Amino acid sequence: MRSVASRVGVMNGEGALAVFARARELEREGHSIIHLELGEPDFHPAPEVQHALRTALAEGRDRYTAAGGVPALQQAIADYLNQTRDLDIDAGNVVVAPGCKPALGLVMQAIIENGDEVLCPQPSFPIYPSLTRALGGTPVMFGLRETNGFQPDPDEIACKISRRTKLLIVNSPNNPTGTVLNEDARRAIVDFALQHDLLVISDEIYARVIYGQSYVSLASYPGMLERTAIVDGFSKSFAMTGWRLGYAVAPDWMVPAMHMLVVNSFTCVAEFVQYAAIEALRDRSGACPRMVGTFAERRERFLKRLNQIPGFRSSLPDGAFYAWVNVAGTGSSAEELCRLMLEQAGVAAIPGAAFGELGKDFVRFSFANSMEKLDEAADRILALSSTWAKAGTHELLGRRR
Ligand code: PLP
Repeated sequence: MRSVASRVGVMNGEGALAVFARARELEREGHSIIHLELGEPDFHPAPEVQHALRTALAEGRDRYTAAGGVPALQQAIADYLNQTRDLDIDAGNVVVAPGCKPALGLVMQAIIENGDEVLCPQPSFPIYPSLTRALGGTPVMFGLRETNGFQPDPDEIACKISRRTKLLIVNSPNNPTGTVLNEDARRAIVDFALQHDLLVISDEIYARVIYGQSYVSLASYPGMLERTAIVDGFSKSFAMTGWRLGYAVAPDWMVPAMHMLVVNSFTCVAEFVQYAAIEALRDRSGACPRMVGTFAERRERFLKRLNQIPGFRSSLPDGAFYAWVNVAGTGSSAEELCRLMLEQAGVAAIPGAAFGELGKDFVRFSFANSMEKLDEAADRILALSSTWAKAGTHELLGRRR
C-alpha cells in the first residue's frame, strides 16, 4: 500500500547536488570549502533586471498568466532567438516554464511513450536518461569520447538507430565536456533526423556561454524547425538560476500538448519574473557578454593551473563553464580523488561518472567562481597531489582531515 510509483525508482539524481550536500555539511563543521561542483554563475542578474522585477511587482503583475507565458515575453524570446541564432520562430511556439529543466520535462512528456528509444549523449546532463526511463522509454547512449574531441561519432549513432528510435537529444555546448557540435556533427545529426523521421531536443542552455565562435542551432537547418524542440532558459546566460525561468520552442503540432501539460502541472510561471525576463533579454548593459568574457579569462588560467597537477589532463572547452579533466594519469579513481579533494583540501568537484559511465576517468570542475578561489583551489589540489602521489588516495582517505 505505502509504496511510491515505480517510475520514481528508475530515476537518478544529479551528482552535483549530492556533492553540494556533503560540502555544506563540512562547512557547517567549520571547514573552508571552495565550491566548484555546481553549474551556477557566481554573478547576479543585472541591476536593470532586478529593477524591472520590483517595478512589475509594484504594478501588480502578480497574477496567473496564459499557459504559454506572457505574450510580451514569448515575443521577446522569439525575437532574441531569431536575432542571436538565425532562426525564424513565432512567439506562439514559445512555452515559458519554471526553468530549462521543466521545459525539457514538458517536451519529453509530450513525446515519449512506452517502448520508445531515445538517443542521448554520454557524458551528459543526467536528467536525459533519467526522465526517459521514468516515461517508459529506453535511453540509448552514444559516446562523446576524448579521442574524437568529445564530438559524437556518426557511425556509432547510425548503428544505434532502430525502428523504435523516436527522439535524439543533443546539448551544445555540452555539460560536462564543454564541446560545441562542429559542422560535420551537426550535419550528420540533421541527416539522421530527416532520414529516419526522428524528433530532436536541442538543449541550448549554454548557447551564449561560448568562446570565440558564433552559435549555430540545429533548428536553423532546412526541415529541422518542425521536428526540433529547443530548450533554453535564463539560469546560465543571465545568471538567474534561482529565478527559475526557462522555455521550450516547440513545433506547431506539439504546442497544444505542451499547454495541456502546463495546465496539469505548474499552471504558469510567476508573472513578475516573466516581465523582468524581458529586460534580461534586452541586456542593455551587456551583462551577458561581460560575464562570458570573465569566464573566458578564468578558463585560460584555471585550465593551465589544472594541467600542472600531475596526472591531470584537460583541453580548453569551447563553451559552458566547466573544466572536464581526465585524471586517469593519477593512478586513482575519479571517485576517490573527488572524495579526497573535498574531505582533505576542501575543494568540491564532481566525479565524471555522475554524467554516465564514459565519464568515469574524469572530474568536472566548474570555473564559475572567482579567480582568487580558482587559484586557491588549484594551490590546494597541487599541495594535496604530492601527498597522494606518495601515499595513494585509498590510504589517505582512511586518515582524518
Ligand atoms: N540542461 C543542462 C545541460 C544543464 O546543465 C542544466 C543545469 O545545470 C539544465 C538544463 C537546467 O537548467 P535550469 O536550472 O534552468 O532548470
